[in-house]
Amino acid sequence: MVQPTPLSSDALHRRGLMFIMSSPSGAGKTTISRMLLEADDAIRLSVSATTRPMRPGEVDGKDYHFVTQPEFDRMVEDEQFLEWAHVFGHSYGTPKAQVKAGLREGCDFLFDIDWQGTQQLYQKLETDVVRVFLLPPSIDELRRRLTGRGTDSTDVIAARMERARAEISHWDGYDYVVVNDDIDQCFDKVREILHAERMKRARQTGLIGFVRELMRP
Ligand code: ADP
Ligand code: 5GP
Repeated sequence: MVQPTPLSSDALHRRGLMFIMSSPSGAGKTTISRMLLEADDAIRLSVSATTRPMRPGEVDGKDYHFVTQPEFDRMVEDEQFLEWAHVFGHSYGTPKAQVKAGLREGCDFLFDIDWQGTQQLYQKLETDVVRVFLLPPSIDELRRRLTGRGTDSTDVIAARMERARAEISHWDGYDYVVVNDDIDQCFDKVREILHAERMKRARQTGLIGFVRELMRP
């Protein structure tokens, strides 16, 4: 009789997770997020809505849903957000619809959101949330990265540097902290976290049936 091929534990059905990456602005979370999305087909970006102006190279609907303040306020009123916050004088929010259905189907979502949004998501969906905080190797390097990125005016960079210390102070509200010194090493560490979190027993909803089958006399 032909034996059935053993099932890899990776192939079992599991519930998706919410992979949150935060950092002080300029520490590299957009860069690491893009690398992760490119390398891993099973995770997709939760595209936030924002009222801030589009930066060169950004695409509406891909990087953010760029909306006006009245549009954003209407979305808040209609309870379309899982969380929302004011950051750097603009409004940012995580739309609800896509994420809730996706998690059930085993899709993972990546969130590039700040500590306020992280707290709100953790309060609502604690068991689905994995919180990763990126730190720059030094404050001087953070300034160099913000300047080198070339997307913000001197005033905006000064404001972001001003806020960096306050943002860093939230490091202890995260499950994992990674220093983004060498980009490739940082990426490898973030990827390892994602892989390990996928294997958590509670997320592998297909395990019960699989184990029952293994134990059948
Ligand atoms: P954030 O999204 O956290 O604001 P970005 O990903 O936009 O930060 O990174 C800020 C700048 O720093 C970008 O120009 C990026 O290319 C650069 N950068 C990111 N990580 C590193 C790193 N490990 N070493 C050197 N430069 C980096
Ligand atoms: P940026 O304007 O540089 O893209 O983002 C500014 C800050 O807003 C970053 O710290 C980013 O993580 C945060 N942010 C982006 N989208 C959201 C969101 O939907 N909710 C919250 N709370 N923060 C967000």
